[in-house]
Amino acid sequence: MQSSHVFHRQLLQDMPVAVSGKGITLTDSQGKTYLDASGGAAVSCLGHGHPDVIAAMHAQLDQLAYAHTSFFTTAVAEELADTLIDTAPQGMSNVYFVSGGSEAVEAALKMARQYFVEIGQPQREHFIARRQSYHGNTLGALAVGGNAWRREQFKPLLIEVEHVSPCYEYRDKRADETAEQYGQRLVAELEAAIERLGGDKVIAFVAETVGGATAGVLTPVPGYFKGVRELCDRHGILLILDEVMCGMGRTGTLHACEQEGVVPDLLTIAKGLGGGYQPIGAVLAQNRIVETFRKGSGLFQHGHTYLGHAVACAAALAVQRVIQRDGLLAQVRERGAQLQALFQDAFGEHPHVGDVRGRGLFWGVELVADRASKQWFDPELKLHARLKRAAMAEGLMVYPAGGSVDGRCGDHILLAPPFISTPDELAQIVHRLRTAI
Ligand code: PMP
Repeated sequence: MQSSHVFHRQLLQDMPVAVSGKGITLTDSQGKTYLDASGGAAVSCLGHGHPDVIAAMHAQLDQLAYAHTSFFTTAVAEELADTLIDTAPQGMSNVYFVSGGSEAVEAALKMARQYFVEIGQPQREHFIARRQSYHGNTLGALAVGGNAWRREQFKPLLIEVEHVSPCYEYRDKRADETAEQYGQRLVAELEAAIERLGGDKVIAFVAETVGGATAGVLTPVPGYFKGVRELCDRHGILLILDEVMCGMGRTGTLHACEQEGVVPDLLTIAKGLGGGYQPIGAVLAQNRIVETFRKGSGLFQHGHTYLGHAVACAAALAVQRVIQRDGLLAQVRERGAQLQALFQDAFGEHPHVGDVRGRGLFWGVELVADRASKQWFDPELKLHARLKRAAMAEGLMVYPAGGSVDGRCGDHILLAPPFISTPDELAQIVHRLRTAI
C-alpha cells in the first residue's frame, strides 16, 4: 500500500521503533531498553510515563480538549499563565502561548518588530544573533540561527541578520586573558556590529542563554550577559533570550538567565515546558512591550490555531507542579554536581575528550582527535553521528551535534537527562557513554 508518510519513512528507516517509556528508560519493539540521557532533545524533564502528568492530561481531556482562543480562554491556560508569571524574571508579567520552540522564536521576533513600529521607530530592521547557535527551523528562526550550513540553501531568508561570536571559552578564550576579559571582548565585538549597522537601526540581539544543539553546550562567561544587557539598553535594543533548550529548570534554576543576573525583554521557552507530554511553548514578555501594544494597536498581530491548547496547558501545569512539589530544581543542581564528578573521573584524562562543559543537567562533551592541539577529527568521519549509533547499541540515548558550522567543524554530544535521574542511573549513563566513545 502507498504510504502517505513517505518522508517520515525515508528519514526514519534505520530507526528502532519505540513502544514504551517509564522513568528515564525507553523500550523498543525488540524489547531492548535505552537510558534516555538526552531527554529526547532536552525535553523529557520528568522522564516518561509520569503518573501525575498523565492524570492531569486525562482529567483535562475528559472535560475539554480544545476551545479556540477567538472565542474562549480556559481555566487551565489561565492557571498555567499565572504559574509562569509568578516564577518569571522580574517585570515579565505577560505570557504568549505557542506550540513549540520555533514558534516561540518567531513570535518573539515579530513582537520585537511590532514594538518598534508601535513606538514610532520603524527604521529598526536588523537583528543581531550569534554564530554556533540554533533557534529553530522556520524561516525567521532559521535566519537568526547561527549555523550557515542550515541557512545556506534557503537563501534569501526573509530577515537580515548579522552574526557575532558566541561564548566558546574552550576554543576562543586567549591564554593571556581572564574569562571576564574574554566576555568583555565579546561584548566589544557586539558593540562594533551595532555601530556598523547603526544603533537606531537594530531591533534586537538574540541569544541562547546557554547554547545547545549546535556545539554541544556553550556556557556564558561571568559578566558577559550583564555587558550585553547594558549595551542593548544604551542603544534601546531589545534583548531576546532563547531558553527553549536550556530553560525550564534544565540548568538548575527555572530560567537560565537568573544565573546571569539579567532580565531579557523577551524570553522564549518550550521543550521542558511540556516535558514531552504535549507540544507547547511560550514567550514571556516585559510589561512595557505589552503595555505599548495595549495603548497602541491593541494587540499583538500574531496567532496560531492551537495556542493555549487545553491539554497542552494541563500537561505543562502538571510538570510545573511536580517540579515545585518535589523540589526538583535543587535536585537538578545536586545531580548536576554528581554528573560533573562522574565526567571528571571518566573523561578527565581521556585522549579524545577535549572538553566537558555544562550546568545542572545540561552538558556537552566535545570530542577531539588530539587533546593538546584541540584538533577536531576529520568531519567526513561524522563522528558525532557514529557515536550516537554506538551509544544506542549500548542502550544509551545521547544527542549528537556537529558537522560543518560556519566553517568550523566539530563533534559534540549533548546530555540532558531527566531531573528525576538517580545517582545510579547517572553513573550508568557515564559508564555507557565511555564504552561508546
Ligand atoms: N531554540 C532553541 C534554543 C532550540 O534548541 C530549539 C530546538 N532544538 C528551538 C529553538 C526550536 O524548537 P522546536 O524544535 O520545538 O521548534
